[in-house]
Amino acid sequence: MQSFRFACQPGCIRCCESPGVVRLAPGDAQRMAHHLGVDLQTFHSSYVMQAADGLFLQPSPSNRCPFLLPSGCAVHEAKPTQCRLYPFWPEIVETRQSWQRTVELCPGIGKGPLIQIAGAVSRAQEMKRAFPKSYEP
Ligand code: SF4
Ligand code: SF4
Repeated sequence: MQSFRFACQPGCIRCCESPGVVRLAPGDAQRMAHHLGVDLQTFHSSYVMQAADGLFLQPSPSNRCPFLLPSGCAVHEAKPTQCRLYPFWPEIVETRQSWQRTVELCPGIGKGPLIQIAGAVSRAQEMKRAFPKSYEP
């Protein structure tokens, strides 16, 4: 496969509903706080938790992303780096099995403009730059 089509589908929240955590890259919290109209300290105390390997969004009481609404992402325009880059994550695009699982999950794959594989891999590099410790060899 040299290329595939992809366009995130309006109203879809399947990847947001998948189990997992939302990591915050440098700049994510500031951008989201600005979008919500709160100061950074308030944003951190309301939505962020610190772990040994970085900052994460605190899950909601139902163990979901705190910004996931039935209608979609409440911070769509300012969403975290990992959300903006999905499904172009190294752990997805670099193995055939992971990619196949994602094809089954994400209805946006197979629709929209053509994307060259090299372009997808290049976008995945942004994840490695944002989270270098997570992708150390
Ligand atoms: S699963 Fe795919 S189409 Fe649905 S919101 Fe996520 S990226 Fe978009
Ligand atoms: S921040 Fe938005 S895009 Fe990211 S997981 Fe939460 S609801 Fe989904």
